[in-house]
Formats: sequence, structure tokens, C-alpha cells
Amino acid sequence: MDIIPKPYHYEEFPGFFMILPKTMIRVFPANQTVLRTVKHFTDKIYELSEINLPIVENKNFSSFTINFQISKTDLGKEGYKLNINARYILLEAETEIGLFYGIQSLIQIIFKDLKYSPYLMIPTAKIEDKPRFEWRGMLLDVSRHFFDVDFIKRYIDYLSMFKFNIFHWHLTDDNGWRIEIKKYPELQKISAWRAERKGIDWRDCEPQKPNEKTNYGGYYSQKEIKEIIEYAAERHVTIIPEIEMPGHSLEVLAAFPDLSCSKGQYYVATGAYWPNKDILCAGNDAVFEFLENVLDEVVELFPTKYIHIGGDEANKAEWKKCNLCQKRIKEENLKDENDLQSWFIKKIADYLSKKGKQIIGWEEILEGNISTDSIIMSWKGKSVEIEAVKSGHKVVMCPQTHCYFDHYQADPSNEPVAIGGFTDLKKVYDFNPIPKELDKKESEYILGVQGNLWTEWIDSSEHAEYMIFPRMMALAEIAWNNQEKNWEDFKRRVNRELKEFDKKNINYCNHSFPEE
Ligand SMILES: [Zn+2]
Repeated sequence: MDIIPKPYHYEEFPGFFMILPKTMIRVFPANQTVLRTVKHFTDKIYELSEINLPIVENKNFSSFTINFQISKTDLGKEGYKLNINARYILLEAETEIGLFYGIQSLIQIIFKDLKYSPYLMIPTAKIEDKPRFEWRGMLLDVSRHFFDVDFIKRYIDYLSMFKFNIFHWHLTDDNGWRIEIKKYPELQKISAWRAERKGIDWRDCEPQKPNEKTNYGGYYSQKEIKEIIEYAAERHVTIIPEIEMPGHSLEVLAAFPDLSCSKGQYYVATGAYWPNKDILCAGNDAVFEFLENVLDEVVELFPTKYIHIGGDEANKAEWKKCNLCQKRIKEENLKDENDLQSWFIKKIADYLSKKGKQIIGWEEILEGNISTDSIIMSWKGKSVEIEAVKSGHKVVMCPQTHCYFDHYQADPSNEPVAIGGFTDLKKVYDFNPIPKELDKKESEYILGVQGNLWTEWIDSSEHAEYMIFPRMMALAEIAWNNQEKNWEDFKRRVNRELKEFDKKNINYCNHSFPEE
């Protein structure tokens, strides 16, 4: 069986279950959420065969039927049991989430191993399955380049195919603000657009000139965001929105220069912006009023418990020179600018906490005394997760050494230009997200793993697909499966999956297996 990620336990048997013209689907209980989940299956069968399988509700199990039911499995809320034999298919799970993942496995089996003679014949097998980690995430940066609603939905489809459950949506950064905030139309009018530099390498883009037209970019309306959240929820994917602060916010200053320390003239960055010296002023109360108003709308839109507030790479040079920031340091008895950053993040965390939300931030938020209910994303690959866990934080592992899918995945001389780095499929597959320095109890603080697709050099959906596939399959394997690794077996399953991708016209890197 060629399922990705590989199930926790499975056995294959000779024989087939046949879908005949009279085959029915039995569902129990036939409530709305279960029916909505089962529809993912019936839609796929229809796509494959134009057969519309009738659905009946019945408490009692029946033969010659495809049975979907909620029952006790002892495999947790995301686990499932799947039994395919000559007489029936029985998929059981404790929740509709488990049913959904069972359906993903069943679809992979059907699409890859189906035989016709003349009916659809599904090979027999028994699977017991459950995930290793509760956080199985993928990030998409839509600031450096904007991706339309259709692609966001496709990205979510890819996540759910491989049993990822978190979509980290990097919505704001120096190169563009991408979420409609009704209170501040300037964000849509100014911060969402930049001067176009198409065809020019990211590092060579000239900054915007005064009075130059800004027509490159875009943003998601709140209506579109609601539609995407609903789409993701139907696929059991939680969306974590990220609103960057206090650094990586040049695009905000382009619309609101008064929120900066030196109050100059700012433009949305057209390309690389480094060092990223401009920053929100930590001494100006208007900054917090702005951020709180923005977060009010973000919180209202996104049902998730977690809001990502960025916090990475905040350059404090401006804070050093700013009277208001220095005054704040004195008044709040802070040690220095690093301490001021902690104070800033804590103020936002407290605000969100009053609204029942917790913050997630990049590892730099640990620099001060941040409360342990904040989740840390470890990205620099310098083992900050060990210190974070030992001080009581939960951690998501996304070290750039193994989880940055904007890095090269093969010999750079034959690849489209990338940011740098080298993270090939084998390296992702060999990643071990639990540091050996943590004991069993401590390792429970590692919530899971995440792949990050930063898009400085990636301006099309085809290129985005090329960068995530097949590396995302290796990450899915690590996120879901805790078994001994078997590279040869994984390679075989990837190659099989890529044949399906050819049929579906999904782009991918086709030379991930150099001659060994
Ligand atoms: Zn300042």
C-alpha cells in the first residue's frame, strides 16, 4: 500500500471489495458534520467513476456496503480504523476528524490501486492509524508575493491530502499587507500594493520612487477570509493568522508614518529589505491602539485559539535613537531595547489573553520574560527549543535547516533561483524533531512540526507547488508517523504519488532522487 503518510499499523490481504451498481454507503450517525465528511469520499468516487453512491442512515452494520461510523476506537480524536474485505468496507473513528483522515487513506488506496473488471475493485487491507504530533503545519507567505483565493484553497487541499491540520497564514510583512481591516482602509489602499519589479532578482529590486504607481499586490477581503476559513474547517485544517510586529512592518509605516520612530516617508518594499531597520515605535501609545484595533478584527474573523504575532528579526536601531522609546524604557524600568521588545510582546499577549486568545511567536519572543502559555516556533536551527521547553513553553519545530521549503532542493545550477540553503528531500525525511536532550516528559512539549514556504523568489502557484513537492510528503511522514524510517519504501511511495500528481497536473520537483 502506498499511503503517505504511512499508517501507524497496517496489513494487506489478497482479494478485493467490489463497488457494484447496488453498493450503498451506510452512515451512522447521519448528522451534518459526519455527512459533510463523507461527502469528501462520495465526491472523489464520482470524480473517478461518475458513480453516485446512495447514502443511508442505519445504526446496524451491513454487508456489501461501505460503512462509515462514529465508534470507540481507542485511537484518539484523529485516529481511525479501516477494514476493507471482500464483503464490506468499515471505517470507524471517534470523531468526524478521524473519519476524515480515514477517508484520505481510503481515497489514496482507491486512486492508486484500483482495478476495473468491470467494476471498481478496492484491494483488501486492515489499518489502524493515529497521528504522532498534534501540530502538523505548513506556512505560506502571501506578503512577498500575493496568491489568490483559488490557490489558497488548493494549498489547503494539499495539506489535508497528507493529513496536515494547521495552515499558518503569513498575512503581513514589509512587502505587503494582505488582510482587509475595515477600520483602516489605508491598509488596503496603500499597504497592500507596491511598485512592480517583475523579472528583477529579489535582491536587486530598486525601492519605490516618489509618485511611482503601485499596482502589484492585493489583499483578501474579510468575506474571502471567512470563505477560506470555512473551506479549511471542512477539511479539519485550522488557520493560524500571523500579524507581524514590531519589525517586518514597513508596509504599515507606508500608510501610517506616524507609527514609526523617525516619522519619515516610507514605501512598501519592492524586494529585499535588509537590514529591516524600520520598526513600529514602542514608545508611542498610538501604535498599541492601532494594533489592538487590528487584532480586534482578526480575533473576530478567526475562530482559532492562537494568534501568531511574529516577533522575529526586530531591528532595534531606531528604538535606540527614539526619545519616546527611551522614555518608555525608563518609565517601565526596562533594562534595554531587548527588554522593550519583551514588554511590547507581553502587552500584546495580555491584550489577546483578555479575549481568550494565546500568542504564538517566532523564537525571538523568548528574549525577554514572556509567559509560558505562549507557543514558540523554533526556526533558526540553533536548538532554542531545548531552553524553551525547559522553561515551560510548548514548541513547534520548523528549523530552517530542515523545514524551509524556499531553500534549494537539488543542485542549484539546475534549479530556479532560490533564497539559498540546501534542504533536499532526504534531509527533510531524516529530520528528527525531538532533541535528544529532552526526556520523555519534556518531549511532550514539542507540539509538532511545520514546513515554511517563504515566497521572496516564488511568484506563481506553479513555482510554489514545485518548492513544496515532494518535500511536504517527507514532512507529513515525520508529523504523522513515528516508526523506524525506511528511505527505500518512502521513495517508492513518493514516486507512486507523483504519478497521481501527473494526472492532476500538480507541479513538483521531478529530480528529488539523485543517483545514489
Ligand atoms: Zn520609538
